[in-house]
Amino acid sequence: DKLLLEVKDLHVSFDTYAGEVKAVRGVNFHVNRGETLAIVGESGCGKSVTAQTIMQLIPMPPGKIKKGSIIFDGNDLAKYSDKKMESVRGKEISMVFQDPMTSLNPTMKVGKQIMESLIKHQKMSKDEAKKRAVEMLKLVGLPTPEKRVEQYPHEFSGGMRQRAMIAIALACNPKLLIADEPTTALDVTIQAQIIELMKDLQIKLDTAIILITHDLGVVAKISDRIAVMYAGVIVESGTSNEIFYEPKHPYTWGLLKSVPRLDLERKERLLPIYGTPPDLFSPPAGCPFAARCDYAMKICKEKYPQKFGITDTHHVHCWLQHEMAPEVKHPLAEGG
Ligand code: SF4
Ligand code: MG
Repeated sequence: DKLLLEVKDLHVSFDTYAGEVKAVRGVNFHVNRGETLAIVGESGCGKSVTAQTIMQLIPMPPGKIKKGSIIFDGNDLAKYSDKKMESVRGKEISMVFQDPMTSLNPTMKVGKQIMESLIKHQKMSKDEAKKRAVEMLKLVGLPTPEKRVEQYPHEFSGGMRQRAMIAIALACNPKLLIADEPTTALDVTIQAQIIELMKDLQIKLDTAIILITHDLGVVAKISDRIAVMYAGVIVESGTSNEIFYEPKHPYTWGLLKSVPRLDLERKERLLPIYGTPPDLFSPPAGCPFAARCDYAMKICKEKYPQKFGITDTHHVHCWLQHEMAPEVKHPLAEGG
């Protein structure tokens, strides 16, 4: 069975004094073993909440899974108790975050932080765990790993800390790695190295990856498939080629316009998407992107766009795909 994770009709809300924030509003996606799915969208679109819900890392309350299932390797994680999740986190599914300083323990040697999960989940002896910690630091490309295991996080540079985080996350050889903006805090050269490293490790270890990012440029090299998220829903999904070369949703066009194009002669101005996402206390009944969309029609404001299949792998929620809609050529097709 190649299917590893299937998220079905997931709804996640947060109770606040101002009312219920509907952060995730019916999300569906799957991840196959060993592949990379990127979830892309602006901040606040629900991508991090989705990831944290898979790991049960959202505070409940005020957070709540209102509906849906998270089938991982045949079991529904949405029904797992906190205690049962303990045996999944770090062992079956691991997570790396944007800022390693918040997830690394500053008072504990890096080697010891890798050893902890090995001793807990793999029941390794201290000596075995230490040997494995050195191997892991070597695997993530840290020079002199024997010295590095004995050092504290503050003795590492930003890029090295992110490598150490990845070493911790992968130590128990999880089936799934969730990386939430793993390179956002790093400068561009280091970003590229970390992405390269993740791709390399994925091939070596056969780990599936969910890569969460606001930057479509980051995902280009590493993703097999891409899901574009907006205002708590997935508006378009497809293979990387489909999303990059045949995008169908106006929001995806906007995201692509803000990626620097290396294949264009002229230096294109990066175009921001004007406007702000809808309020998630009372999301609109129609298309959530309507208020910002250059192509919005009457129906867009009234009715939520159904799912249109472009290919077996490519789906979009946009009324432009309706047979009655006018034909619109996406702006990138004409060469930017
Ligand atoms: Fe724009 Fe309408 Fe498509 Fe929404 S459904 S993205 S408003 S054209
Ligand atoms: Mg986030």
